[in-house]
Amino acid sequence: MKHWLMDILACPAPECKNELHLEVYKSHMVESDGEDVEEIDEALITCPKCDRWYPVVDGIACMLPDDLRMTGKQRIEEEAFLERWKEKIAPSILNDGIPFGIKP
Ligand SMILES: [Zn+2]
Repeated sequence: MKHWLMDILACPAPECKNELHLEVYKSHMVESDGEDVEEIDEALITCPKCDRWYPVVDGIACMLPDDLRMTGKQRIEEEAFLERWKEKIAPSILNDGIPFGIKP
């Protein structure tokens, strides 16, 4: 995903819809119209209003409602994301993230 996407993304949580914060962990440069632009591969999106977090995995922002994140393949994928970047992610998210974290 590109940085400009953050300008149009809003928190999908009901009654939130706040602007989001982006922390990039892995990216690469691509050429677009003769200019180098950053293509984000892995990043953490956080919402300063409701304190939810969302992962960017393989360039795709995964911004699903809580109930679709809590179980199954999605949960496994998002827990693997937290595990992968646990050196960089704030302990408050790792331990007590919304909608979930990974307990040590
Ligand atoms: Zn929110």
